[in-house]
Amino acid sequence: MAIKAPEGTRDLLPDEALFWEQFKRSATDVFGRCGYVLIDTPIMEQTELFVRGIGQATDVVSKEMFTAISGENLKTLLDGGTIKAKSRLSLRPEGTAGVVRAVVQHDLVPQGAPPVKLMYAGPMFRAERPQKGRQRQFNQIGIECLGANDSAVDAEAIVMCMRFFAEVGIPADNMRLLLNSMGCEKCRPTYREMVREYMEQHSDELCDTCMTRAEVNPLRAFDCKNEACATVMENAPKITDHLCDECREHYAQVKDLLDSAGVQYVEDASLVRGLDYYTRTVFEVQVIDGMGSQNAIGGGGRYDKLAEEVGGRATPGFGFALGYERCVLALQAAGMEFPAAQHCDLFVACVDSSARAAAFALSQACRDSGFACQMDYQQRSLKSQFKLADKLCARFVAVLGPDELAAGVANLRDMHTHEEQQVILSEIPGKLSV
Ligand code: AMP
Repeated sequence: MAIKAPEGTRDLLPDEALFWEQFKRSATDVFGRCGYVLIDTPIMEQTELFVRGIGQATDVVSKEMFTAISGENLKTLLDGGTIKAKSRLSLRPEGTAGVVRAVVQHDLVPQGAPPVKLMYAGPMFRAERPQKGRQRQFNQIGIECLGANDSAVDAEAIVMCMRFFAEVGIPADNMRLLLNSMGCEKCRPTYREMVREYMEQHSDELCDTCMTRAEVNPLRAFDCKNEACATVMENAPKITDHLCDECREHYAQVKDLLDSAGVQYVEDASLVRGLDYYTRTVFEVQVIDGMGSQNAIGGGGRYDKLAEEVGGRATPGFGFALGYERCVLALQAAGMEFPAAQHCDLFVACVDSSARAAAFALSQACRDSGFACQMDYQQRSLKSQFKLADKLCARFVAVLGPDELAAGVANLRDMHTHEEQQVILSEIPGKLSV
């Protein structure tokens, strides 16, 4: 049986591969206007980075990471040995931890320096149960701003994210921006304890997973998909009622700035997101119609403690990631089709094999002048070559045969107007700009 792509992965065939390039270019453009520049970090990192950064208790780290292992280390393990910590590698499940590691490693925010604004695009890997909108390898575009805890960083990034979605064509009236604050290390522990106590009081109504979560990280219960749990958690204490003064002020500023930018949001006190590193602002963008349960197209938030978690000095940060494949689903639901990757200005057709060398030279000359040019490689009949030219959507077809060769011309047909004219070979590139 022919081998297929692994479960939960997807080929980006040429039309889509081109679209992905355009999608990244739009991001570079929109984010670049806010000062974000590209960074490219390894797809593999030390497992320890994700354990410390994202949190051992998160689903992403405890269940969904793919381990990358060399043949040599696999043998060591199978022989009952252990491998060194620095050789324990995982495929990145998200982009933030790696970027923050790079910022710390290369000291990209020296003390007193302005914040660094970075963006990335590439594949992430999570061993989740594949379904529509949920893959094991998927592409994210994300940004990270490190070095400032100012609320303007949060608001600017959220506005930028919404502008990007609009720029790529996701209908504004089909998106919902959810916003919350998760507090900080001062106010969250007390709040977390309140939620834990609340969960204890409702232990008979909550699922076992939630009750196990209650011990490690009770806030995770807000993400439980079980309906009974969701109903109980709806009445749980709300973080926004228990923020410290600084967090309350920070959250109010973010909302004011979003208001002033005309960006609408819905406050959602149950939005806690699945990773441990968030502090203060968190947000998620959902598509309202046409996406089923996997309707989150992007999200992120502030992470003021993450740089320290991975061994750096205290460096506040804010970031978000958006899922390329989910955006494609949203765009397709809105009627988008991938633009054709193939582009052909000129197809050079040969009447017989005597014209092949001249056809080859003409194709080359037109390419050197900047035109996309194709020819036949299978000695097809002239009729089949025209069919092929049609299939390639060629704008012009140049026909070369013994008579044309003798006269140093080609018969140039405009495939839109069907007009034909004899053109001196060296003048053909000049006729192709329309
Ligand atoms: P997260 O890192 O979980 O906050 O994810 C950010 C965005 O990446 C989500 O809003 C989704 O659009 C996308 N995403 C996350 N996990 C997957 C997945 N397994 N398959 C496809 N897209 C995903």
